Amino acid sequence: MTEAQRSHSATGGDELLIGRMLRAVERLASANVDTADLATLNELLDSSRRLRSWVSSVEVKVTRRTNELHRAGSAGAPEGLLADRGGQSAADAKVAAERADVCDEMPLFESALAQGTIDNGHLDAIARATKGMSDAAKAELLSDEEALLASAAGSNVDRFTRNLRNKARDITAAHDRAAEADKLSRQRRNSRIRSWIDHDTGMGKTLLELDPLRHAELHAAIEAHLATVRQRDGHGDLPLDQLRLDAVIELVGTGGTLAERRIPEVSVVVDWRTLAEGVHGTTLCETRSGIPLPVQTVQRLCCEAEVLPVVLRNGAEVLHVGRSHRTATRAQRRALAAVHRTCAHPHCAVSFEHCQIHHIVPWERGGATDLDNLVPLCSRHHHLVHEGLWTIHLRDDRSMRWVQPNGETCFDGPSTDRVPRESEGFGVLVGSGPPPGRSR
Ligand SMILES: [Zn+2]
Ligand SMILES: [Zn+2]
Repeated sequence: MTEAQRSHSATGGDELLIGRMLRAVERLASANVDTADLATLNELLDSSRRLRSWVSSVEVKVTRRTNELHRAGSAGAPEGLLADRGGQSAADAKVAAERADVCDEMPLFESALAQGTIDNGHLDAIARATKGMSDAAKAELLSDEEALLASAAGSNVDRFTRNLRNKARDITAAHDRAAEADKLSRQRRNSRIRSWIDHDTGMGKTLLELDPLRHAELHAAIEAHLATVRQRDGHGDLPLDQLRLDAVIELVGTGGTLAERRIPEVSVVVDWRTLAEGVHGTTLCETRSGIPLPVQTVQRLCCEAEVLPVVLRNGAEVLHVGRSHRTATRAQRRALAAVHRTCAHPHCAVSFEHCQIHHIVPWERGGATDLDNLVPLCSRHHHLVHEGLWTIHLRDDRSMRWVQPNGETCFDGPSTDRVPRESEGFGVLVGSGPPPGRSR
């Protein structure tokens, strides 16, 4: 609100309002409450409510002005004045001061308070709901002041408080999730391998720095193979570190067949509600060793046969999450391979064999493991969909639409490529423009 608007609303322009308030005072003062019928009582309550809101709006102005004087050094803090002269408890005075802060940001609410179309409680709900929110999340919650005001005017304080609190929680969770997913992809990007020879000892050294998820996968594979190595004759007495090293070397030596040989015991622990609805107050979503993971990542892992999600309900009961319903069967993979030569992303040449089978509607939200809900995606595009929050739609004819997180459609067309499309050559990524996706 500009200064001009503010002074306008405080003086001459408010004659209509002042007239209404005077009538409300008259009505309250002259009413014979003891003999009033229900309709009259309702009218009296309406009048007192309107007056109360208007008085609060005056207090907001007083608080604002006290603040100006306080900053200039000629008055104490507004809370003190509201308590000492305003006759409010310290706690109420603090709430009233916060109400003024909300009005500074939301001028429409301030005039609605003066008009009596909303109550103190609506403003206090905003102050409470936004406490502790990040600036970005708060900006998102309050971005549409008109819609918020309509919702406040149309619902009582309790309902408005509850709705706003839920909305604030959802927005905060979405922001946290985005930050968490960003963190994991940053860790993934910053992962590295370094090898060098220590010239003093002549030993070769290798340093692997990995994001927590791939680190867990690596160690799950090593530990799984360690058990095999240990069972061999004469190996039982060797130090564990030696055997573990043997396991690593053997695993690396299996080269291309590693993917098939992997006996993955990687499990992530997640509670059912988080998986189905997203982050909530008591979300559990982490590797077995307790490293927190973004929910989108765990949802992506649910598409993959190699990772076993351990899903908890009510914090304890482990739901049986078998592979059979969750991931595509061999027959389904064969059927998909018959139409998809490569990843279903329009500009991707990664071959089907190296793809994961993605559920368009995730299984944890009731998506079936049926061909019309499954597409092959390479690891990069699988990440793009889950962690990158892209949306894909698949029609009956297997044409697809790729939609960016901002709602913009980036591609709409065929997803199948068993017969190479002439314009694109044979799976070569040249000259077809930037693929819809973030570069990694
Ligand atoms: Zn997926
Ligand atoms: Zn791809």
